[in-house]
Amino acid sequence: MGRVMEGEAVDAATLRRWLDVLAARLSERADYLTQLDAAIGDGDHGINMDRGFRAVRERVLDPGNEAPLDGLLKGVGMTLLSTVGGAAGPLYGTFFLRMAAQAGAKDRLPAPELAAALAAGVEGVRQRGRAEPGDKTMLDALLPGVETLERMLAEGRDLASALEAAAAAAEEGCRATVPMVARKGRASYLGQRSAGHQDPGATSSAYLLRALAAAVSGS
Ligand code: ADP
Ligand code: MG
Repeated sequence: MGRVMEGEAVDAATLRRWLDVLAARLSERADYLTQLDAAIGDGDHGINMDRGFRAVRERVLDPGNEAPLDGLLKGVGMTLLSTVGGAAGPLYGTFFLRMAAQAGAKDRLPAPELAAALAAGVEGVRQRGRAEPGDKTMLDALLPGVETLERMLAEGRDLASALEAAAAAAEEGCRATVPMVARKGRASYLGQRSAGHQDPGATSSAYLLRALAAAVSGS
């Protein structure tokens, strides 16, 4: 595993690559996400996320858009708020808006500041959705993912390997939602019957961190 490199940072181009990889993944997995949501919700999560990230590609990832890094993240948040709908739209919208606010107007985000921006996004999701870990929501993937990222960076790991570990932790957190009983969102209407199914939002959140790891390691 690599050690932290002096001045390791991400720029707007890396974030654009992240969003593009994520949009492709969500489009590829739209049917699967929708199947997961059909089991414990209303079967629209894949459709919702694919619609939102298609709009992100058109409106935000347009090559003519030279928005700085925080403007890019803000554009994603606004686009998701206006196009995704359901529970996930406001939650992912908040995630990117809080990330933008924490990142601020900079050309490059040093690794610890990227982690802080992601953590602010996750905190926004927690506040907006009032869910806690173990409630069988996207937080069950996002929280272990971002905590792992922060811990690995504090231990001196390089950003690419810290993000790889963060994505793996989010995937593990996502699988851990299977036996959980949902306490938030539509799945909570099922009570005990929500157990035995993987949470769709935790699944898309694991894609989000996996896409970031891929975008950064490809740079
Ligand atoms: P809807 O439930 O309105 O149809 P989606 O199907 O797009 O919206 O998203 C469902 C996902 O949203 C769930 O799998 C869960 O991860 C997430 N979710 C729902 N409510 C909350 C909440 N209060 N806090 C965090 N995440 C939530
Ligand atoms: Mg749904």
